Amino acid sequence: MERIGHWIDGQHRQGTSGRSQPVWNPTTGEAQAAVDLASATEVDAAVASAMAAFPEWSAKSLAARTQVMFRFRELLDGNRKALAELVSREHGKTAADADGEIARGLDNVDFACGLAQLLKGSYSDSVSSGIDVYSLRQPLGVVAGITPFNFPAMVPLWMIPTAIACGNAFILKPSERDPSASLMLADLLRQAGVPGGVVNVVQGDREAVERLLAHPDVQAVSFVGSTDIARHIYATGTSHGKRVQALGGAKNHMVVLPDADLELAADAAVSAGYGSAGERCMAISVVVAVGAVGDPLVEAIAQRLPNIQVGTGTGGASEMGPLITAQHRDRVAGYLAQAPEDGGDVVVDGREVPAASGPGFYLGASLIDHVQPGSRAHQDEIFGPVLSVVRVETYEQAMAVVGNSPYGNGAAIFTRDGGVARRFMREVQAGMVGVNVPIPVPVAQQSFGGWKGSLFGDLHMYGPEGMQFYTRGKVVTSRWPEIDGTPAGVQLGFPQNNDG
Ligand code: NAD
Repeated sequence: MERIGHWIDGQHRQGTSGRSQPVWNPTTGEAQAAVDLASATEVDAAVASAMAAFPEWSAKSLAARTQVMFRFRELLDGNRKALAELVSREHGKTAADADGEIARGLDNVDFACGLAQLLKGSYSDSVSSGIDVYSLRQPLGVVAGITPFNFPAMVPLWMIPTAIACGNAFILKPSERDPSASLMLADLLRQAGVPGGVVNVVQGDREAVERLLAHPDVQAVSFVGSTDIARHIYATGTSHGKRVQALGGAKNHMVVLPDADLELAADAAVSAGYGSAGERCMAISVVVAVGAVGDPLVEAIAQRLPNIQVGTGTGGASEMGPLITAQHRDRVAGYLAQAPEDGGDVVVDGREVPAASGPGFYLGASLIDHVQPGSRAHQDEIFGPVLSVVRVETYEQAMAVVGNSPYGNGAAIFTRDGGVARRFMREVQAGMVGVNVPIPVPVAQQSFGGWKGSLFGDLHMYGPEGMQFYTRGKVVTSRWPEIDGTPAGVQLGFPQNNDG
């Protein structure tokens, strides 16, 4: 069976810990490879490699580093199909969906190519006689990224291009469930001219993560994953004095007002609820139907579900692939079993599609109506193809449903009323807001991040805030007295900015 190892010092390395775990093919339900799980000693070797590479890489001109990013961009684009196939094979998402995640990742590489514009600092001329003040930003050193299974190419691309273009050395600990895309990215970075040690990949589980969090030479940790782990990563990383941004799970609400375009709203709910089998942190998982829109909206959504082709990740006609593991599929299906007891009506049951009884980890698109606010289907992140509909009478009640969620990643409103949309945009407790847009993932020149249990830390990921996260500021006050200037002499008073 294929063995998937690490990437250290610019080359593949087999693991030496003696620990590994299976990598499943979610479409067939069979193990297709084994991934090595790094020990603390192997993590230390990766950090040592990054420490050794950092001085020379960070001393290169910014132009030299961004030229490498331009080459990487071309290589990534040229190898897009192969990378998408790799993602599909281990994750199970369809080829088109995998291609979409690479396209969004490419946007982040584009952004890193233009980083010079953001890193140019600022200058305050002649703040006093012969004195100028300027600011610059410098890389942190060795930084680490810990990423989830659901975007094995895109989330590493949220982090690595900006981090290394800023001059850092990077250690990626990808999800152990779909580890191969990270190795392909590392190899493409090598081909683009990234020196050995600047990007290392350690495969692993909790043991590797704990070592990265405690390692004294790791300056910062970017994490994306579920909320409980994000909370732990933030608490542990910061207790070791590190800078941490930890993005957690989500429960994204889509509020549909009675005046909304019903067809637009139903299409959006289906696309955003079931794309990637609901395994997206920006998936819509709860539709909040206000007033009279409830019955026609549920009917319009339900009508669309039988048309969704559930099938293999690589099959041409397939629109929705399997879930990541059998255990996860069973957990998601458990919400359908529980719903009636909690007052919900299962309108469409994904356990009934033919693929759901096969060996692959499939579950069909499912719809639960009349989900009670506060019930498990409403509160928990289900992370599967289960869309809940909560019915309310007023806009205010809808806002209370959204506001009581422990998560605050994204939220959307569907309406024709600009005034209400504006009010929603200002009031809603979420970091990313859509107006007649169901998955408001910010473009690469903005930054990505939620509120409440969806983000621990203050800086959002990628874009301008990503640059801030991966650099620290320095402000220089310099005096160059003019050649015939009079020396100021000793002055014990606190310096002021007037020349007197
Ligand atoms: P996960 O939390 O299980 O794993 C994420 C990473 O943490 C993996 O690399 C994993 O190896 C590591 N990890 C797991 N358990 C750990 C432990 N006990 N100690 C230390 N490290 C541990 O998440 P997942 O199942 O891979 O991904 C799905 C989750 O990620 C969902 O909750 C989803 O909402 C979230 N997600 C959030 C965003 C966002 O931007 N907010 C984006 C994508 C995914």
